[in-house]
Amino acid sequence: MTVSVVQAENLARYYKVRGGLLTAPRTLKALDGASFTVEAGQTLAVVGESGCGKSTLARLITMIEPPTSGSLRITGTDIIGAGKSQLQQLRSTVQIVFQDPYGSLNPRQQVGSILEEPLQINTDLSASERRDKALSMLQRVGLRAEYYGRYPHMFSGGQRQRIAIARALMLQPKVVVADEPVSALDVSIQAQILNLMMDLQDEFNLAYLFISHGLSVVEHIADEVMVMYLGRTVEQGLSEVIFSRPVHPYTQALLASTPFVDPARRAKRVVLSGEIPSPLDPPSGCTFHGRCAHAQKLCQQQVPESRLFDGRQVACHFAEASAVVHRAAC
Ligand code: SF4
Repeated sequence: MTVSVVQAENLARYYKVRGGLLTAPRTLKALDGASFTVEAGQTLAVVGESGCGKSTLARLITMIEPPTSGSLRITGTDIIGAGKSQLQQLRSTVQIVFQDPYGSLNPRQQVGSILEEPLQINTDLSASERRDKALSMLQRVGLRAEYYGRYPHMFSGGQRQRIAIARALMLQPKVVVADEPVSALDVSIQAQILNLMMDLQDEFNLAYLFISHGLSVVEHIADEVMVMYLGRTVEQGLSEVIFSRPVHPYTQALLASTPFVDPARRAKRVVLSGEIPSPLDPPSGCTFHGRCAHAQKLCQQQVPESRLFDGRQVACHFAEASAVVHRAAC
């Protein structure tokens, strides 16, 4: 039976930005209506350039800040109506692994203390029980027991990320938000960490929200992919559908800039020109129109609604044409 551990409906987060002396305050729509579910044991990859809304989404899922509108259920509980103690309980079911394994671990804490801290704060376990759990988790993430008394600076980047993953799992969460967990690591280490994450997912039936600026690292880990641009979801569907037949011009461009080993896939090049616009002053209509090779007049006038096309949700007025052109180019 599938269990939805994260259910988001039209999730939005807006920020009021103060104006200057002569300008009115403005609204920054960091996240503008994301809808998705993540099942236990599954991975949703959230992909896009910086400013697309993926970090805002991570802050909402980890309940660091509340949504402006929309609904968010974690393990079936609506976080909007949740009381303080319920929220505290829910927070321990969602843990995060950050991008930077150098900055996310306290350099003055020994590894054992880093791993035991969540247990000390959230459980009544005795010191020896906490130690046993820390040692067992160290082993589970592929680190030796003697590392228990060492400090973060004594480890490589990959080992530090293993420690960060171990810390995230100490409270037996249901959801792990992995915020670019391998992008600071050498390519040779990335695969090891991704494999470890997949093994742990199988073992603990974890739901992953895997955030990434590129598509290459998510291909093997993601069950579903959600591509975001300037706070909105532009394409969303099963991983194999998105990777084999991308339809939105932005997804096609992201895929084209992905360094695949297979030369046939490398050949499908589409250059993504221009900079991502400011989310404080987004373009009218489809916010991607200034960078889109398929843009037409309608794209500047009307926001494309998300709709079902060829087995995925896509927000593009000309998805049919874009799909045909892409197929012909491949
Ligand atoms: Fe390009 Fe228009 Fe589709 Fe936007 S709606 S992605 S501008 S074709």
